Amino acid sequence: MYRTHTCGELRLQHLGQTVTLAGWVQKVRNLGAMTFVDLRDRYGITQLVVEEHSPEQIRNAVAHIGREYVIQATGTVIERASKNPKMETGDIEVALSELRILNTSEVPPFTIEDKSDGGDDLRMKYRYLDLRRNPVKNALILRHTMAQRVREYMDREGFLEIETPYLIKSTPEGARDFVVPSRMNPGEFYALPQSPQTFKQLLMVSGFDKYFQIVRCFRDEDLRADRQPEFTQIDCEMSFVEREDILRTFEGLAKHLFRTILGVEFPEAFPRITWHEAMARYGSDKPDTRFGMEFQDLTQTVKGSGFVVFDSAEYVGAIVAPGCAGYTRKQLDELTEFVKRPQVGAKGLVYVRFEADGNVKSSVDKFFSPDQLKAWGSQCGANPGDLMLIIAGERKRSLTALCELRLEMGSRLGLRDKTKFAPMWVVDFPLLEWDDETQRFYAMHHPFTSPKPEDVALMDSDPGRVRADAYDFVVNGVEVGGGSIRIHDSQLQHKMFEVLGFTPENAEKQFGFLMNAFKYGAPPHGGIAFGFDRWCSLFG
Ligand code: ASP
Repeated sequence: MYRTHTCGELRLQHLGQTVTLAGWVQKVRNLGAMTFVDLRDRYGITQLVVEEHSPEQIRNAVAHIGREYVIQATGTVIERASKNPKMETGDIEVALSELRILNTSEVPPFTIEDKSDGGDDLRMKYRYLDLRRNPVKNALILRHTMAQRVREYMDREGFLEIETPYLIKSTPEGARDFVVPSRMNPGEFYALPQSPQTFKQLLMVSGFDKYFQIVRCFRDEDLRADRQPEFTQIDCEMSFVEREDILRTFEGLAKHLFRTILGVEFPEAFPRITWHEAMARYGSDKPDTRFGMEFQDLTQTVKGSGFVVFDSAEYVGAIVAPGCAGYTRKQLDELTEFVKRPQVGAKGLVYVRFEADGNVKSSVDKFFSPDQLKAWGSQCGANPGDLMLIIAGERKRSLTALCELRLEMGSRLGLRDKTKFAPMWVVDFPLLEWDDETQRFYAMHHPFTSPKPEDVALMDSDPGRVRADAYDFVVNGVEVGGGSIRIHDSQLQHKMFEVLGFTPENAEKQFGFLMNAFKYGAPPHGGIAFGFDRWCSLFG
């Protein structure tokens, strides 16, 4: 037997016991008369002690061990003279009677400590060593626990976990596929699934009315902070459901995870807002609602005073940063630089300071009287001491820029607290998105998403205005999940393909297998998929 206990286990209750531990040497401290060794495994660290009167074999062995050596240590659990309340095992130490070196180690290229001296590249190169560090190890443990809690809830709700193939025909999430050449059929390729979307819909046709899977998905996209070429989804689908059933079921899953992992309760239903409202109030379909600073639309208010930037703008929007009237010239210049960055995309920034003494100062004093500025202030709910920041221009661009600015101000004011959670549903997304470059509509979600029944008639007359029965689950500005009620009527599906510009032949070629299946009694169905990695990082 290599060990009787783990390195995280021993307490005062074990005093006097002879134990054997195995693990990695974290640290050796030779104090002359005594040598201390910190021994580490997945479970924790235990201090070993070698004393002057310890057997010579041990004193020799301990003189030869270095960081990350793998050792087996046997000894007696004794009470520490100076206890370490910061360590779980800090009340005891093990007085060694036997020490075996199981393997040596080269000096590791960075310190295996919570705060390592290794940079990202180095730690990635030696990822197996990085994984010995608590922050990274704990992230993997959290991921495991999350997966277990998901399975627990889904099983309880009657969902079946079903695997779907990886080497498949192309799937429709709108990203690029990864392809795998087929050895058996030279010149032909498999695609890796961007998601199991079509499979889960086929499973509904087969009658598995509650499906889920924790599954790897592959999208050949450029790397971004929260996007990776391979990622994991909690993929779910249900039959005989309306949107309400899905939101209820998965709000339940979210609450279960918040409760069992973080101990956070949400007694109320999660707030819901429509996509249009989210765009108007936050300039984003994934708003961070941990703080207010909502957009105020000044487009009509500010026109007609000869300030061409406002007069020619499709949209003029403001946010009010509480208590920031004292921002210095330098800070305002910084913010202007910030909004002008290409990723943010504004042309400039207008500010109005509502000073504590009631005076108003702005960068557009030449064009607007103090009374006009004060009127903006009361329209937007600005108080003395507040700073109003205004962006003007083309609507979509300005909304995006103001969204970035709002987030930046939220961060500067410490309002984006990692330990606070603001979950919500964004509903009623547009079904289609117009692309100027290719002059055609694209499915905002994917081509199987159902329009809202009351908007179906608009499919012919005004497709851009059709709302989808689609929903996203958003927490703290992160899109954690998204899904929709699906089209199960073949007429409507054909209409959708037509609006998306597929010829009947192309639609048949790409999705014929699914359309064919739908001829054999497709039940009404809908689903959702959560980004498992995003959810874990939010909880981590
Ligand atoms: N398959 C979709 C996605 O990956 C989610 C869904 O509609 O269920 O975004």
